[in-house]
Amino acid sequence: MEGIRKSYGDVDALRGVDLTVERGQIVALLGRNGAGKTTLVSVMSGLLKPDAGAVAVDDINVLTHPAEAAKMIGLAPQETGIYRVLTVRENLEFFGELAGLRRRESRARGDLVAEQLELTDLMGRKASQLSGGEARRLHTACALVHSPEFLMLDEPTVGADVASRQRLIETVAAMAADGAAVIYTTHYLAEVEALDADIVMIHNGEIMTRGTRAELIEQHHRGGLRFTVQGSVDQTILDDLDIVSVQPQTSGTAGEDVADYVIAGDLRMPDLIDRFGPSVGQLVSVERNLPDLEGVFLAVTGETVSDGEEGL
Ligand code: ATP
Repeated sequence: MEGIRKSYGDVDALRGVDLTVERGQIVALLGRNGAGKTTLVSVMSGLLKPDAGAVAVDDINVLTHPAEAAKMIGLAPQETGIYRVLTVRENLEFFGELAGLRRRESRARGDLVAEQLELTDLMGRKASQLSGGEARRLHTACALVHSPEFLMLDEPTVGADVASRQRLIETVAAMAADGAAVIYTTHYLAEVEALDADIVMIHNGEIMTRGTRAELIEQHHRGGLRFTVQGSVDQTILDDLDIVSVQPQTSGTAGEDVADYVIAGDLRMPDLIDRFGPSVGQLVSVERNLPDLEGVFLAVTGETVSDGEEGL
């Protein structure tokens, strides 16, 4: 996609986005709630018309030939969309045939993706009788059933248990290894690492940075320390530090304010402790700020990470 703009009323959801995904490549879209990820996927798959810009899959113009482009695309949107009155097998076959597979082919592919996503034992079950995680797995399997050349999965692991996540990641990685282009949105950084994806960080409708985990850390990691402080800190101590982010915690043990700080630079732990002097008792913990994607996100957006231990 090139120069994509999309507004909903006065909300600019995409502000001039350029994005290319090659065959064999997995692009992980990372961004906070409302960053524009779903809008981007919807435009790329031809579901949503942008206000400006161009989108193509291979040389097919998605905006003028959406039906042709759709044959190459497998999309699992954020909202689970399966037919509740049909069985798991019927759903898989229906989506396969909808994408142009013959019945026999559709049945064979259905069996295969069911096995990949651990749905084999549920083939005869009505979709209305699946658990939330199972329904989500079927929803994803329906997007894979016709072996799409371009696969888009919007938060496919919401509600999935650890083993299911692992299976999905293996399946997606295998499809990319077979030559599919993949866009994968998630809030779980661990998945992005497991997929060894090319990471695109999107913020307020704009792509802030793109690269592998190693490239992003190399470009954006600023070293430094992380520390936690209880109570209000003497401003003169803070003024001398190169503060990257401050994240308040909900409450301290004695009802006092508690905040996590990240500072950049070469300051060593003992030097930080010295700087606190008589206020050292307020320093609850100090550790090295190790390179990770969360830190990269903070550095490129200037924002703090929302709740969740491993998620954005
Ligand atoms: P999430 O992580 O929560 O799924 P997202 O990155 O997918 O978020 P989008 O759904 O693309 O974000 O939304 C981008 C922006 O557009 C947000 O500010 C959102 O409130 C707004 N938005 C999305 N859909 C609509 C709509 N139909 N009408 C009005 N505003 C919308």
